[in-house]
Amino acid sequence: MLDPFGRTITYLRVSMTDRCDFRCVYCMAEDMTFLPKRDLLTLEELDRLCSAFVAKGVRKLRLTGGEPLVRRDVMKLVRSLGRHLRSGALDELTLTTNGSQLARFAPELADTGVKRVNVSLDTLDPDRFAAITRWGKLDQVLGGIQAAQDAGLKIKINTVALRAINEAEIETIMTWAHGRGIDFTLIETMPMGDIDQDRTDQYLPLSVVRSRLAQRFTLDESDYRTGGPARYVTVRETGGRLGFITPLTHNFCESCNRVRLTCTGTLYMCLGQDDAADLRAPLRESSDDGLLHAAIDEAISRKPKGHDFIIDRRHQKPAVARHMSLTGG
Ligand code: SAM
Ligand code: SF4
Repeated sequence: MLDPFGRTITYLRVSMTDRCDFRCVYCMAEDMTFLPKRDLLTLEELDRLCSAFVAKGVRKLRLTGGEPLVRRDVMKLVRSLGRHLRSGALDELTLTTNGSQLARFAPELADTGVKRVNVSLDTLDPDRFAAITRWGKLDQVLGGIQAAQDAGLKIKINTVALRAINEAEIETIMTWAHGRGIDFTLIETMPMGDIDQDRTDQYLPLSVVRSRLAQRFTLDESDYRTGGPARYVTVRETGGRLGFITPLTHNFCESCNRVRLTCTGTLYMCLGQDDAADLRAPLRESSDDGLLHAAIDEAISRKPKGHDFIIDRRHQKPAVARHMSLTGG
């Protein structure tokens, strides 16, 4: 799959559900309206869709959400998609999770061929954790991370840099992660969906975080890439990797290799644009995949050049109305 700007699409992110057991302040309003359950694709339909993308050249699948591990019977899908790893059609099957259910699922995930999971963790302070996630418990997530490591899964921690909230703690989280052999990536807040707070207050440019860290640590440039938008350095003192995802201060679109599928079968060709393609209709119209393949080709031919994220006082509306939890972060 080649888009109009010559980028090969090899990476599909799939939102399993828009629901979540947390209500992170930068991601959701406390009182969210979720999709009616009947609008969700079944796990069999999601399998068929993912497999169509694999047949068309996708080499990496990431399950996300909402919280992917709160979707009922999600492990059935993971287990079934594992066949593409064994056949060699897929290089990687992975997940982005808040970690709340990891203690329960880690051994089974490892058993199906999952090698790495990204866990989102914005603080190591239990009270702050409760304040950021509104509903989450830090202990449960730390237990999940431990269980995942015990099961042999490689972990990457993703932390959203939040001004005045976890700003002073970033160094602590980094050294904690690196001390456990865990890669650590920082993310800037992106203006997606209405939340209860002002995003301008949350936004902390990673250029600022980086120069602060550079005063205390030696950050060696690294050409390590995971195929994603993160740019990495190696921290000489800890020996660990530190990644930066900077959609706002640095445009990461030139090398974009991904598209995103929601749990209702809508394909978003860009995280930061509204244009989308409906794949549910061609999926349901015929049990043959011909229509579906044609719809995927048509969608890829419309992949835009990049996003238009801006966060400042003059732009109080989110750049896109949908929440990250619908499209899958
Ligand atoms: N629930 C899972 C989790 O938290 O990892 C998966 C879905 S979550 C939407 C994926 C990632 O998006 C998380 O790392 C989260 O911190 C991040 N995220 C959510 N809303 C965001 C926003 N407005 N700006 C930047 N990152 C955001
Ligand atoms: Fe849930 Fe993940 Fe959004 Fe937090 S960031 S509310 S854990 S979907």
